[in-house]
Amino acid sequence: MPGVRPCGRRARRLWGRDGAAAGARGAEGRVSNKYGARRVPCGLEGVPHTHDSYKESARCELLQLAQLAGEISDLEVHPGYDLVVAGMRIGRYRPDFRYRRAGALVVEDVKSTPTKTEAYGLRKRLLKALYGLDVLET
Ligand SMILES: [Zn+2]
Repeated sequence: MPGVRPCGRRARRLWGRDGAAAGARGAEGRVSNKYGARRVPCGLEGVPHTHDSYKESARCELLQLAQLAGEISDLEVHPGYDLVVAGMRIGRYRPDFRYRRAGALVVEDVKSTPTKTEAYGLRKRLLKALYGLDVLET
């Protein structure tokens, strides 16, 4: 499918979804994440991109529809937050979505039991400490 490209692939290669090396190649040569799922193409409008799971892709489509309906605004997929402590860059957190609902900034991550890792928990707490933002887990 021409024009489809993974979004945030540089950061994912460096950090993975939860800090591990990502981008393992499956038997068919497709890029898969470390949980073995294939990347899912997405994009009702705007820049075509991919997601790590069907659940995340389905959520993205719902959010895009919510934005078209005017319920949310400024929807971004895989925004990045640098995690800097005492001048040292600890890492980068890329939640799945960021948008505004009723003027308030919402940071959302689609989570399942295998993706609620210790590293994710640490990133989530760093986001709160550094940016004052809570993560909406869906
Ligand atoms: Zn999407």
